[in-house]
Amino acid sequence: MNNQVKPTDTQKLLHWIESKLEATRLTPAWFAYREMQKKVLLGAFETDTPPVPTIKLGDKVFACPNCQEASTAGEWNLATSDACGTHEITLIESKHAEESFFTCPKCGSEEDYGLLVVVE
Ligand SMILES: [Zn+2]
Repeated sequence: MNNQVKPTDTQKLLHWIESKLEATRLTPAWFAYREMQKKVLLGAFETDTPPVPTIKLGDKVFACPNCQEASTAGEWNLATSDACGTHEITLIESKHAEESFFTCPKCGSEEDYGLLVVVE
């Protein structure tokens, strides 16, 4: 899994819900579709704007051996925790990082810490 945003077209979703509302009129399912429609109209499923990655002068960045793209420690940690489905990961800047694998934020490939190129 990578952290790319897959936005949903709200108008297409609402159009689909409306067709289901018509098809399920006078059935218990109608109420479920009506709830769904309300939630969509209230913006409950709007995607968050992805944060703009910022590499500041002096930041330690790690280049991926697969795609050669460089990312900050924070970006590698976030992509790795997303891929693992948990926030309990070994942080890339910790002393135990050499025993761990990290997920590239750019290509999603899982990489051995030892193969990462540290750029300072
Ligand atoms: Zn990569």
